[in-house]
Amino acid sequence: MCGRLLRRRIQCGCGGFMLSTLRTMIGGSTSQKNAGWAWKKLCQVKDRLKEGFNSAGWLGNVYSISKVYKWIQGPHQDVSWYPWVWNRFNIPKQGFILWMDLQDRLRTRSLLVDWGVCQDNVCLLCGNAVESREHLFFDCDYSRKCLSGISEWLGIPETDFSIDRSWKQWGKEVKDSIKRKICLAALAAMVYQIWYVRNKALWLKVVIHPRVVCKVICTEVIQRCKQMINCRWRRQHCKWLHSLQSTSCR
Ligand SMILES: [Zn+2]
Repeated sequence: MCGRLLRRRIQCGCGGFMLSTLRTMIGGSTSQKNAGWAWKKLCQVKDRLKEGFNSAGWLGNVYSISKVYKWIQGPHQDVSWYPWVWNRFNIPKQGFILWMDLQDRLRTRSLLVDWGVCQDNVCLLCGNAVESREHLFFDCDYSRKCLSGISEWLGIPETDFSIDRSWKQWGKEVKDSIKRKICLAALAAMVYQIWYVRNKALWLKVVIHPRVVCKVICTEVIQRCKQMINCRWRRQHCKWLHSLQSTSCR
């Protein structure tokens, strides 16, 4: 198709959308069959908000976008890990993988076997057990070595070796809020790196040494946390971060 013809078709399409939009606006109804899909969606939101104005009493009070957003979302269960996952100290991609893991949405081999996608459910990192969420984080010998290395680096005694309990234990161990955020960012980075290494083992048939994984985690955490330094940080925080940096390459 030549460029001129394509441009004309796009213009015709936009014209059709605008015409249907104007008709709907004039008609004041969402039931117009020839209205564009985008406008129908907008009208659905408008109708929903109309319900909020009537039932939630927004007309009598100061209008707040945050209140409306929460109203549209509806009731949802609060989760204790929310401040850990959606924290600025975490690199966003690491927070996302952590969020997936905490909801058991990572496609581990035990899940894939249950779904009939693959036949082999053995852990790709140690080869000694079924690869489930509980095994990867952190029943697996491989991931335990990584966790031990990082907990030693941070000066936190690790006893639980379970993603669901370790982050709570770390939170209790570290009283200072900034130091706690740094430690939990390291744990988030650990989940990401173990999942990354596991995928690398699957696709490239290569298992990276746990010491190398620990070094990557240390480097990423230090770099990220340096970006988080602001006026709330005290000298002791900066000194501690500097000491972490000097001990991360051992
Ligand atoms: Zn394993």
